[in-house]
Amino acid sequence: MIRPILRFGDHDLQTPARPVAAITGEIQHLIDDMIETMYAAPGVGLAAPQVGVPLRLFVVDTSVGSNPRDLLVLVNPEFVEREGMQIEDEGCLSVPGFSANVARPARVVIRGLDRTGDVVSCEGAGLLARAFQHEMDHLDGRLFLDRLRGLKRHLIVRKIQKLKRTGKW
Ligand SMILES: [Zn+2]
Repeated sequence: MIRPILRFGDHDLQTPARPVAAITGEIQHLIDDMIETMYAAPGVGLAAPQVGVPLRLFVVDTSVGSNPRDLLVLVNPEFVEREGMQIEDEGCLSVPGFSANVARPARVVIRGLDRTGDVVSCEGAGLLARAFQHEMDHLDGRLFLDRLRGLKRHLIVRKIQKLKRTGKW
């Protein structure tokens, strides 16, 4: 089932998520819904807080469904390594229609549980490293906008506020 994606301005997006205590049937159901919602958007990643569930869990697929092996489900992920820096244009399903250059690590390794509860390590460079860092930020209640310099962030926020006033957000 496709779930509604919360947008910038929703308090749930700014709230740090708590660890998943156990991978229950309910969590499996949530994971299925998140994958379906990510592909439908379409997007390369989706974190549970974006669908209003304050748990440390995200899904990523840099191929957006074209290569099944690229689909990753990470539960209670943590960074093991982060190195280098890349600056690329970045957007977010919770901030539709906007993007900006964001500095991110060039390479990361994260460790967490997969959907079967096994411990997995995932290494990512380039877009995958960016996606991991972006989704980890969601779990900590941060959006890519929070990584922008004041003026750039201010300009985007002002445009969003204008859209809100006219009922378009
Ligand atoms: Zn996002």
